[in-house]
Amino acid sequence: MGRNDKGHVGFIGLGTMGREMARNLLAAGHSVTAFDIVGSAVEELVSAGAIAATSPAQAAANADIAITMLPDTPQVEEVVYGAQGLLASPPAGRLVVDMSTISPVAVRRIHADLKAAGTDFIDAPVSGGPIGAKNAALSIMAGGEAEAFARAEPYFRAMGTTITHVGAPGAGQAVKLCNQLICGINIQAICEAIALGRASGVDLEQLRNVLLGGSAASWMLEKLGPAMISGDVGAGFRIDLMLKDLRLVQEQAQALSVPLPGTALVTSQYIEARAHGEGANGNQALFRVYDRMTNRD
Ligand code: NAD
Repeated sequence: MGRNDKGHVGFIGLGTMGREMARNLLAAGHSVTAFDIVGSAVEELVSAGAIAATSPAQAAANADIAITMLPDTPQVEEVVYGAQGLLASPPAGRLVVDMSTISPVAVRRIHADLKAAGTDFIDAPVSGGPIGAKNAALSIMAGGEAEAFARAEPYFRAMGTTITHVGAPGAGQAVKLCNQLICGINIQAICEAIALGRASGVDLEQLRNVLLGGSAASWMLEKLGPAMISGDVGAGFRIDLMLKDLRLVQEQAQALSVPLPGTALVTSQYIEARAHGEGANGNQALFRVYDRMTNRD
């Protein structure tokens, strides 16, 4: 499939989230040129109808919008500032949207540098996990100028259902960090309840069903609870990525003098999990910290 009139996207970063989001852009009728440093990820998307690119610059050339979905701040900086990057080779539509979770400080710098070169930049991190990405049901929180947000919105509609312009550059990341703080502490609370329920001898599936019907219900309990109970540590959102997010939360909190004791506690448990080799496991593997603390490892 070639470039089309519905809007052409240069999509960079085709991992757990990005590949589903790029597929949904294709499904909504956009054309997509795709780039990832992993060749097989590009090939997979080409078989879904995308055009292959061999650099960020090539993905962006002729695109109305370039979208990045990368692990962390250094990778986004590489794609923006690198020799084959979007600052030197902006998309034809002069609009770059980063949907990764990265530092709000870096976002403001990237926004200013691209703006000075005549390109708009929106930070638009997401919540909803791989399931939300697959079902085009993400919550998208965007920071940046209103006019640039309006140009990006039709593309957001192909990937998400709750799409909110939350403020100035960096505001999307600020909201996402609040989201991650809640997710981390919520996962910890569920691990703790399962550890106590198990030691009390109650049926854990039944425990989860009961909790889902009452005031302890949560997205994490619904989506991650079964894997915690069955001992499945397979990755959806990796422990390493959550540790990156908790670091960003704490950097933001320190810069603004906001004490976050709950975040500090759960961060040390994530560090413990990584020290036991769980970094590439899914977030639900935090329950293994409780396995070790209760001598059930
Ligand atoms: P991932 O590691 O699965 O995917 C990242 C992709 O980027 C990989 O395919 C990798 O090869 C590619 N990449 C790395 N450096 C690159 C570069 N310089 N140029 C081009 N491609 C490069 O990560 P993910 O789970 O898809 O998460 C992406 C972002 O979204 C992260 O910031 C994460 O925190 C955030 N996020 C993830 C989830 C989730 O549940 N997985 C949910 C919400 C937000």
